[in-house]
Amino acid sequence: MKKAGLLLAVTILAAGAAAAQGAGTPVFPPFGFDMSAVDPSTRPGDDFFQYANGNYLARTEIPADRPIASRRLDMTDRTDLKLKALLEEAANGVGEQPTDLKGKVGAFYASFMDEATIDRLGATAVSPELDAIRNASDLAGLARLMGESASGLYSSPFSAFIDSDLKKPEAYAVYLTQGGLGLPDRDYYLKDSFAPQREGYRAYAQQLLQLAGWPDPAGASQQVLALETALAEASWTKVQQRDPDTQYNPVSKAELQALAPQFPWNAYLAGSSIGDRDRFIATTNTAFPKIAAVFASAPLDTVKAWMAFHVADNASPYLSRPFGEARFAFREKNLLGQKEQAPRWKRAKLAVGGDDCGANPGSCFGTLNWAVGKLYAERYFPASTKAAIQSLVTDVKAAFRGRLQKLDWMGPATRQEALKKLDTYTIKVGYPDTWRDYSNVVVKRDDLVGNVRRAAAADWAFYVGRSRGAVDKGDWLMTPQTNDAYNGSLRDIVFPAGILQAPMFDPNADPAYNYGAIGGVIGHELTHGFDDQGRKIDASGALRDWWTPNDAAEFKRRAKMLGDQYAMFEPVPGVHINPDLTMGENIADLGGLTMALDAYHASLHGRKAPVVGGLTGDQRVLLGWAQVWAGKATPEEIKRLTTSDPHSFRKYRVNGVVRNVDAWYPAFKVQAGDKLYLPLAKRARIW
Ligand SMILES: [Zn+2]
Repeated sequence: MKKAGLLLAVTILAAGAAAAQGAGTPVFPPFGFDMSAVDPSTRPGDDFFQYANGNYLARTEIPADRPIASRRLDMTDRTDLKLKALLEEAANGVGEQPTDLKGKVGAFYASFMDEATIDRLGATAVSPELDAIRNASDLAGLARLMGESASGLYSSPFSAFIDSDLKKPEAYAVYLTQGGLGLPDRDYYLKDSFAPQREGYRAYAQQLLQLAGWPDPAGASQQVLALETALAEASWTKVQQRDPDTQYNPVSKAELQALAPQFPWNAYLAGSSIGDRDRFIATTNTAFPKIAAVFASAPLDTVKAWMAFHVADNASPYLSRPFGEARFAFREKNLLGQKEQAPRWKRAKLAVGGDDCGANPGSCFGTLNWAVGKLYAERYFPASTKAAIQSLVTDVKAAFRGRLQKLDWMGPATRQEALKKLDTYTIKVGYPDTWRDYSNVVVKRDDLVGNVRRAAAADWAFYVGRSRGAVDKGDWLMTPQTNDAYNGSLRDIVFPAGILQAPMFDPNADPAYNYGAIGGVIGHELTHGFDDQGRKIDASGALRDWWTPNDAAEFKRRAKMLGDQYAMFEPVPGVHINPDLTMGENIADLGGLTMALDAYHASLHGRKAPVVGGLTGDQRVLLGWAQVWAGKATPEEIKRLTTSDPHSFRKYRVNGVVRNVDAWYPAFKVQAGDKLYLPLAKRARIW
């Protein structure tokens, strides 16, 4: 149920959009910022996040069916209600096996809502997978099924995905990477502080194996945990996986076999439908022989139990009530601190349309996500928004260009390459120009697991099928309904329709507000092309070092200065922000807000910024940035995010940034002695 994240491609962000002021009233009058959210008892210089959002945070409760509450999720909720109406309409009176797009979406949704059929089937819905595992006679037989993890319900310690070739960006390459961990990160297996989550995971494995009718579920669950712990030890850390240089390791099939000879590669590759290829990029390559050894030395029955558990885990959203309840109790309650299961229609929406596919590819496994996106965009995305965002991008790009031209620490050779790269960026807004073809995907109103299997197989076949041709420059990684944005390997900045709504972007808001909100996010995405990962890719999209040694050293020194500040933040007791994991996102946040301010100033064309709602222009830009990150989460979720998410937790995306921005100090009268105050020499300046 994973489709491996793209190596470098998706440096996702999270957040919103601005433009010329429209004719109506903003969602938050008078200018776009929710004035009732302010906590006037907090000094801006002590905690700007709390100052800007304190009353919103105090009056907002974390809902029982989620581990988090936030302005971003308020946006998702609005989108979800639109999707619910759309899906119910499509499902209403739909035939058994429709052939049109809307009918297929409706039948898929109906098959998820048909609990009676699902409960009657129980574990038999995954009998084909469980029987295939049982009947395998050796590791090669199992490796073939592991290969099918790309297109079906199995899991695998290795994972294949297809993306543009980092050194030949006009062509696709087949990437192979480590996989197979059922907990959120290797730290969960190896650190004492995660002992309760580990025991919860073992108990969950026991429960699912029991429900699946697997022999000795208690003993098997111990073996599964031990096997995955060994796998975790062999795996690269998330920080190690941030370096594109060390992950670009092209190998032939023979070299792959020599790299990790204990794994039956031919069987695995045949199962993945890529057995006819002779060039792969082995990303976490030094882990491969260790992972192969773990699986070669494990008893066959242990590997079978591991695979059976993962089939049940991957399929659990689509199986009978006991599977769903077990999944909730572990994956949401234990791991995230969520109190209640989401209502069935929301889970059905997820199963048909996915969620945040670019950031979390697994969440769109086995869905009709692009079909749902097409229906959504057709009904809900106005053309006027597209034009407004394109104009904002132009402004922010010009601000970045201005910064690059006058950066005092960058030499002329690097600067010239950087400007060249910036000019190659394209912007994609709302939805893609061409849509995925689902005409060959069979969808049946009474066959949920079958629908998932067929959708997953069609999705993988799509990627394999186009992989021999030239790279599709019009490609999108996120669906239109996604509430997120990204900077991709095609040197494109992509803003799906789902993120282009208040408070990220409000066509009726004051421009200063929109510059701080979506303008900051546009700047954020642009800088990803130049952060600790992106700066290794050149203007042609190829992995190549175009920095002079002096400039590279200076960049690292400045990045470290920022990282050292973030390392001091402790979102929950005992868990500090990992400055290396979050480096790219922290640099992007700082650059984004810096450019938003520049772009706003340029838009005034020498005029003085108007005062609106009693606030200056700079105040409104800064509050715009602070508002889009408003939110809070359960301690479990903050812990999980801080361990595995490359973004710093919300509060620090505000406080960690503004203290390095000179304009913030006079705007909010911040002075020495305030908690966030930094003297000039201590402020990190990158862009
Ligand atoms: Zn980002």
